[in-house]
This record gives sequence, structure tokens and C-alpha cells, in this order.
Amino acid sequence: MAVPKKKVSPSRRGMRRAHEALPRENHAECPNCGELKRSHHVCSSCGYYDSREVIAAEAVKGVVRT
Ligand SMILES: [Zn+2]
Repeated sequence: MAVPKKKVSPSRRGMRRAHEALPRENHAECPNCGELKRSHHVCSSCGYYDSREVIAAEAVKGVVRT
């Protein structure tokens, strides 16, 4: 089995992990309420998707759970 010859220093470990950041999620303005929402997802503030209400806005906020 291949074994590392030296312990990786905190600096080198950090340099390696500099490339491990997660990409930012894409947010777009909701055409219904103008709030920022994730594209291809139901709007989290008004419950709209594809210019129609998919989920009741109260249900989206977690106020109404039935
Ligand atoms: Zn919206």
C-alpha cells in the first residue's frame, strides 16, 4: 500500500482544500413576488412555479401543516 512519506502540514492541507469550496447556488428573481428563488424550484415565499401557485404560500412558510 502506498503510504505518505511525511505528515501534510496544516498549510499544505489548506492549500489543497482551497479548491474544495462548493459552487454557489443559482438564485433568480421570482416573477410572481420578486423574491430571490432557486431556479427550477418552487418559490419558497409565494409557492409559485411556472407562473401558477403549486403550493399554498402559507404551507411553504411552514405556518399551515395539514
Ligand atoms: Zn415568489
